[in-house]
Amino acid sequence: MSETLFQACGIARWRQQDCWPAAVLDGRAHYDADVRHPLATPIDGSALGWLGHATLSHTHLGINSAHNAYLSWRLIPAPQRGQLIACIAGKLRARRAALATLITLESGKILGEAEGEVQEWLDMCDFAVGLSRQLHGLTIASERAEHLLLEQWQPLGVVAVITAFNFPVAVWAWNAMLALVCGNAVIWKPSEQTPLCALAVQALVSEALQECQAPAGLCQLVNGDAATGGQLVADPRVALISATGSCAMGLAVAQGAARRLARTLLELGGNNAAIVTPSADLALATRAIVFAAAGTCGQRCTTLRRLIVHEDIAPALLAGLVNAYRSLPIGDPRQPGVLVGPLISASARTRMQAALAEAIRDGGELLTGDEQLPVGASNGAYVRPAIVVMPAQTAIVMRETFAPILYVLRYRDFSAAIALNNAVSQGLSSALFSNDLRETGRFIGPAGSDCGLANVNTGTSGAEIGGAFGGEKLTGGGRESGSDAWKNYMRRATNTINAGTALPLAQGLVFGERP
Ligand code: NAD
Repeated sequence: MSETLFQACGIARWRQQDCWPAAVLDGRAHYDADVRHPLATPIDGSALGWLGHATLSHTHLGINSAHNAYLSWRLIPAPQRGQLIACIAGKLRARRAALATLITLESGKILGEAEGEVQEWLDMCDFAVGLSRQLHGLTIASERAEHLLLEQWQPLGVVAVITAFNFPVAVWAWNAMLALVCGNAVIWKPSEQTPLCALAVQALVSEALQECQAPAGLCQLVNGDAATGGQLVADPRVALISATGSCAMGLAVAQGAARRLARTLLELGGNNAAIVTPSADLALATRAIVFAAAGTCGQRCTTLRRLIVHEDIAPALLAGLVNAYRSLPIGDPRQPGVLVGPLISASARTRMQAALAEAIRDGGELLTGDEQLPVGASNGAYVRPAIVVMPAQTAIVMRETFAPILYVLRYRDFSAAIALNNAVSQGLSSALFSNDLRETGRFIGPAGSDCGLANVNTGTSGAEIGGAFGGEKLTGGGRESGSDAWKNYMRRATNTINAGTALPLAQGLVFGERP
């Protein structure tokens, strides 16, 4: 079964005696004979082979080659660069089912969500192709006669992309599709937990690069750990580090980048809340809350982790939620009808159980959840999503536990609800369920939610690519995917052109003899 899948994803040719490459540089696989890590699927723990670890010299070579590719790619007109993206999209359409199956196998998310992730890459392709004819600058009225004042956007250089396990394809696509169309080269360090998805992406892109006669070095891949990521951060040839992962990782990357004042784009942890007010449509809110809190087994950066509900409607809302949670189909994410797959690892389950134990010590009341669910003879980390009513926003509620735990807090006054929403150190996503226009206005206004995403009558997760995605505070401040996020992958140059024969100076300054 896996063998056919590896072939369909174009990666079977890269496996050498059960070992997957440590790096794919200029379209060629490189192996490290010394360091190998075992790979297994979170679905049932069965082995997927071994993974090599990029050496210092693999990463060095990858950056070098990416830099050389950038030097020629930046001179290709942007609409022609868009044609490479169109070619990638064509190949992806032919391989979408296989890639989605691989995402499920390696990350454990249900097939429908994996298909959505592939669709997100396709959406990014469409967006980037359109963008290839719209990398607009500005013309500005000059105060000087016969002068032109312009702003142009120019390519940056090598963009390093460091990604997390939970979106093993889409987050790379957000970055790479924009980076390439903007005239840059990309070097990718994927999560240690999802390297096969990265290899499948790399195989597809390598074919497109060859077909379009684009430089093979435009997309490089190094498989490694935090140290490999650190090498990318420290290298002066890397112009931008786009890093997605935990807040702790982002702090380390930001400090490393600050040593050379390198640009960063950080997409870090969230601790997302939804406020449900008395005017809300409770049936709609219930459906949205279940998807946002239990979907992807609580392993989205935008997962709903805190429910802030008005005390008058709390009993009705919680009764509906507990009912819905108890009937959630949990199990093998490849099976039709299953809505919740496994956690990524046994240690993720241990962290979930420790968080629940702490919440209960703090006075929390567990409404549903906690048990470990053996699914068949499986070794997967299957859990039942949990709901815990908390007496207050305690330390455990303020932390992101990357698992399906929904903490419930009650409120009486709407201002207090907004204050609870904003009281955590992360600032990614938030939602309000209300049919009251004034509450909506306050929630999305300047004194409302302080998050990068503030939704009304829809959940915290499941963003479209058209808007800029990202969050404030410890979430890192980055914005990716749609809107004008492309500007992160370019440098702005202001050009003043004197088309006359005189030399008027700005601010009417006279330097030396008057004319
Ligand atoms: P993680 O922080 O453990 O790892 C993410 C990536 O960073 C991996 O590739 C890892 O090797 C690398 N890394 C770790 N330490 C590093 C260092 N010091 N220097 C350079 N690279 C380093 O995260 P994870 O467990 O894979 O993913 C879950 C986390 O990611 C959650 O906190 C989640 O909220 C966050 N996330 C955020 C977004 C977003 O867009 N805001 C999206 C997906 C996931």
